[in-house]
Amino acid sequence: MGEKRIQAKSEVLKEQLVKTSRLLHRIGYVAGSEGNISVRISENFILVKAADATSRMIGPADFVRVDIASVASGELAPKPSSELPLHQAIYTARKDIKAIIHSHPGHTITASSFLDCLRMVEPSKKISEVPVIRGYKPGSIDLANAVASQFENTDVKAVILERHGLVTTGDTLEEAFDLTQVIEKNACEWETLHIHEMINSIAKHVEGIERELLSLRKPKHRPQKQRR
Ligand SMILES: [Zn+2]
Repeated sequence: MGEKRIQAKSEVLKEQLVKTSRLLHRIGYVAGSEGNISVRISENFILVKAADATSRMIGPADFVRVDIASVASGELAPKPSSELPLHQAIYTARKDIKAIIHSHPGHTITASSFLDCLRMVEPSKKISEVPVIRGYKPGSIDLANAVASQFENTDVKAVILERHGLVTTGDTLEEAFDLTQVIEKNACEWETLHIHEMINSIAKHVEGIERELLSLRKPKHRPQKQRR
C-alpha cells in the first residue's frame, strides 16, 4: 500500500479510534490515560494510542503510527502506549486480527482473581470462554509474549489479565468493542452467581453451628430417683 493510501486510511481509522476510546471512557472501562487501543492499517503498520492521552478528551493526534516489527519506538511522537509490545506481539501472531482493545472493566478484573478461564454464562458462536493469564507485569515483554501465545490458537478472541484487565480483538474496532461488553456482562453475571454461592455456603455453615449449639443446650440424661 502506497504512502498516500496509508495516510488516507489512517485519517478514517483515527476517527474510529477516537470514537471508541471516548466510548470506553464513558461506560467506565478505562479512566484517565489507562487502557489502549489499536488498529491495523496495513500488513506492517498499526495505529496505537499515545501513552499519556486521556480517553475522555482524546483526539486524532493522540494516535501514532508504528511498524509492527519495530522494537525501537522511543523516537516516536507522541510516545506510544507502554503496552505497545502487547499489541505488536498479537498482530504478529495473528495476521487476521485487525483491531485490539485493552481496557480495565471492573467485573472482569474481579472474576480474574478467582478463575483460570471465564466461561460465558450465555455462550455464543463468537465466544464461549476466555482464558485468564496471571503473573506478568503490565507493559512487560513477558506479558506480551504470554498473551500472544494464547492468540496462536485461532479460536481465541480475547484474553483476561489477572487483576489487570481485558484484551479483545476483532476484524474491526466495533467487533472488539462488542466483545469487551459481552465479556464484561458475563463477568458481572458470574460475579452475581459467585456471591449467591458464597452467601448460601455461609448460611449453611451458620446453620451447622446453630445445630451444634442447640445440641449442647439440650438437657443431659437425668438419673431416675430411686423408689423407696
Ligand atoms: Zn492495562
